[in-house]
This record gives sequence, C-alpha cells and structure tokens, in this order.
Amino acid sequence: MITFEGVNKHYGDFHVLKDINLEIHKGEVVVVIGPSGSGKSTMLRCINRLETISDGKLLVNSARVEDKNTDINKLRRNIGMVFQHFHLYPHKTVLQNITLAPMKVLGISQEEAKETAMYYLNKVGIPDKASSYPSQLSGGQQQRVAIARGLAMKPEVMLFDEPTSALDPEMIGEVLDVMKALAKEGMTMVVVTHEMGFAREVADRVVFMDEGRIIEEATPAEFYANPREERARLFLSRIL
Ligand code: ADP
Ligand code: MG
Repeated sequence: MITFEGVNKHYGDFHVLKDINLEIHKGEVVVVIGPSGSGKSTMLRCINRLETISDGKLLVNSARVEDKNTDINKLRRNIGMVFQHFHLYPHKTVLQNITLAPMKVLGISQEEAKETAMYYLNKVGIPDKASSYPSQLSGGQQQRVAIARGLAMKPEVMLFDEPTSALDPEMIGEVLDVMKALAKEGMTMVVVTHEMGFAREVADRVVFMDEGRIIEEATPAEFYANPREERARLFLSRIL
C-alpha cells in the first residue's frame, strides 16, 4: 500500500531522510521509533505530500506521490492523519469538526455526515461530547475527536505522529485503546510512538530510525527483547 524506494529528502543543505526503503502492506500496523530529530515526522509527512521528497520513489496504492499527474487531493482523502497536538478547530463543535471535511471534500449531505460522525464518536467512546467545543474537553478526549475526524473520511490508511506525547499520563491509555481497536479491525496504520505496550500488542513491525536512516526493522517481540543495533539498544535503554 505504501512503498518507499531509495527515498531521500533534504531541507536545504540538511539531508533529513537518507535512502529510505520501506514497504507497508494493507492491514499492517507499523510503529516508527527513534530519537528526536531522526526524521520520523518528515517520513510520515512525505506519505501525503505535506513534504516533498528530493529523490527516490514513494508509492501509495501504486500512485507515485511525487508525480505531477497524481491527484494529490484524492490521495490525501485516502490518508487520515493524527498529530501530537490534535489540530481541532477551536470555534467549531466536536460534531462540526468531524462533519466539515466529509461535507466539503466528499460532498456528502449534512445528515449523512452527522450520522457518520456519531458512528465514529461512539466508536471512540464520547458520543455525549458531540455539541461540546474542543476547549471543554480533556486532551485525551480531544485526541479521540481527532481520530474520529480522521476516520470519518473513511481513509484506507491512518498516520499517527506521536498521538499521545502531549497527553497527561492518565489519558494516554484511552487514546491507545482506541488505536488498538482500530488496529485489530484491520486498519493500515503507521504510528510514530514510543509506547512499547501498544507496539507489542498490535504492531506487525517496529522501524527504528536514527539520523535520517532506517537502522533496524523487526517484529516488536524481537526488537524490544533484543535489538540488533547498538544505537537501538542505547535508545531503548534511555526511554524504557
Ligand atoms: P522527528 O520527528 O524524528 O523528531 P523530524 O522529521 O521532525 O524528526 O525532523 C528531522 C530533522 O529535520 C530535525 O533535525 C529537524 O530540525 C529538521 N527539520 C524538520 N522540519 C524542517 C523544516 N521545515 N526545515 C528545516 N529543517 C527541518
Ligand atoms: Mg516528530
């Protein structure tokens, strides 16, 4: 579903992604970990062309992301993204936050959009918050709204960039539970997270990045028990 083939990216003189090769198949859950500044967010953002690659090939559903003929809006509709800092519209209710894109981008009716929004709000466990504003919700609830908003576009892939890093510890579990349920339903997911419990429970693979390179790729069981690379060992010893 997603293929990186010899992908490089530069920010000016800075070589941020170095020869990235990675394949993500339909239904897979891939966890990306690595030190701050190693290029994890950049790699994720290249997938929906929030960042452009410098060279190599990046395919999503066999369409080349960097190709001028690729319909980038169509590609983005198919990829949900959840960020560390929720990015909800503060002056819109939860329901409006979720129905906006499906109505505007997919052109579905308000009625249908509301129905879909309520379906996903139920799924993330906060149907009672439909009329609230983001500022009236806890961080964990806001992040669950952001997930529901992503799902309401019915994407084939969901990208998560440190979705629990900005949350108070007691709210991390509720967001991870929603993500685990999604993974178990077969959603294709790429998740930047250092949450080992999540990775161990639902990830098919863990990808370790350092200084713009993928240094190691392994199953979570292998990776956490016995990382092959010294840099991965060092990193794990610091975060666990
Ligand atoms: P991570 O998510 O692993 O912390 P990022 O992908 O955010 O890493 O960043 C990788 C490196 O690229 C960092 O050194 C960061 O400072 C740099 N970087 C990120 N975005 C930009 C940008 N827009 N312009 C220049 N440098 C950037
Ligand atoms: Mg990042």
